[in-house]
Amino acid sequence: SKARVVVVGGGIGGATAAKYLAVSAPTIEITLVEPKPNYTTCFFSNLYLTGLCSLESLTHGYETLAQRHGINVIHDSVAAVDPVAKTVGLKSGPKLPYDRVVVAPGITFNYDAIAGYDEAATQVIPHAWNAGPQTQLLRRQLESMEDGGVFVLVAPPNPFRCPPAPYERASLVAYYFKQHKPRSRILILDAKDSFNAQDLFLDAWERHYRGMIEWLPAQFTGGIKAIDVKERSVETASETFKAAVANVIPPQMAGQFAQQNGLVDQSGWCPIDPITFESKLQPGTHVVGDASSAGDMPKSAFVANSQAKACAFAIAAALTGSERQSPHLFNTCYTFLSPDDAVSNAVSFKPVAGTIKIVDNFGSQVQESAETRHRTAREAQSWYTAFTRDTFG
Ligand code: FAD
Repeated sequence: SKARVVVVGGGIGGATAAKYLAVSAPTIEITLVEPKPNYTTCFFSNLYLTGLCSLESLTHGYETLAQRHGINVIHDSVAAVDPVAKTVGLKSGPKLPYDRVVVAPGITFNYDAIAGYDEAATQVIPHAWNAGPQTQLLRRQLESMEDGGVFVLVAPPNPFRCPPAPYERASLVAYYFKQHKPRSRILILDAKDSFNAQDLFLDAWERHYRGMIEWLPAQFTGGIKAIDVKERSVETASETFKAAVANVIPPQMAGQFAQQNGLVDQSGWCPIDPITFESKLQPGTHVVGDASSAGDMPKSAFVANSQAKACAFAIAAALTGSERQSPHLFNTCYTFLSPDDAVSNAVSFKPVAGTIKIVDNFGSQVQESAETRHRTAREAQSWYTAFTRDTFG
């Protein structure tokens, strides 16, 4: 009988794994389980947040994966994986047998870390760190905010999904304020003392948004202590800051499914073999994307896609007896500082001694012409189209 692979989660990691298994091993029967009928990308959601694109343009269906690639797409949640019986149990009841299972549940939030902030509070003070209703809520709040208000953004500790994204968000919100609410300000309360591409951001904030964005590191505030949802204020060790609009991005860990199925270690993330992405805790189960603990690789959509390809080729080799290749792993991140000032960072990685290390790292520099930055912004748009087609098309 045919070998069977079940993929848990139809985000970037899961969709890519399913597609590349289908493409590289047509004899394998592939099932993709995802509760949502459509996927809205987090990448480019800061553009939606600030009125620069529609949510529809960020939303992708599963029709092509099902119809062109013959993947059995089931819209349901996976309740549990039984690694002994080798079945995956759906929330609605049925159990699906598998030879290998790929788990890509993304992230969940550690609400225990900030007093006063929990799942219910996200309906008043959004995290907007999963794209969709949360992003819409934050956009409405920014739109209805009066000119002169303070937007307070609480940035999370490492590691978290997309290291430059909180600061890209601050940049694009500043761009929006500059057009529509020029007396408004942005305050970033950070759980860290430094952040990704800090020199590029600080340079851009000075050039585009002088005096509008203030960044307070943990060493200045003493750290984030509590959120008062009613007052819309953020309490730090030294001071309490009141917001007109607040955005709290909590500390993160591997998606709930990984937490509940014995796939995480003490770090809160899933340890994996750096070549096959097979779980170090559960044979036969592979973990890709944000949930995985993958050495130097950051948590990005590009990385989830790159890991998923490596994982798909390793599973195809194992199940069909074809030749196994050593994976090439990449990340390219595009970040908008304004709609036509973007920077990029391209990194390659390889498995070394049980973990994953950076091989090469090329990134934008502070001293670049406006023309170069403009070109990078156009490249980002092309990347979006090509990348989502690679994943869902
Ligand atoms: P996700 O894409 O979150 O997918 C997880 C999926 O699993 C979801 O669809 C969920 O419904 C499903 N799921 C969860 N539990 C279950 C279950 N029990 N059963 C079935 N399904 C389940 N990355 C970039 O590369 N470039 C960028 O420019 C970029 N910008 C970003 C900007 C922002 C504001 C944010 C927040 C993120 C950004 N990212 C970017 C990061 C990127 O979005 C994530 O790294 C990427 O989505 C990770 O993919 P994933 O497959 O691990 O998780």
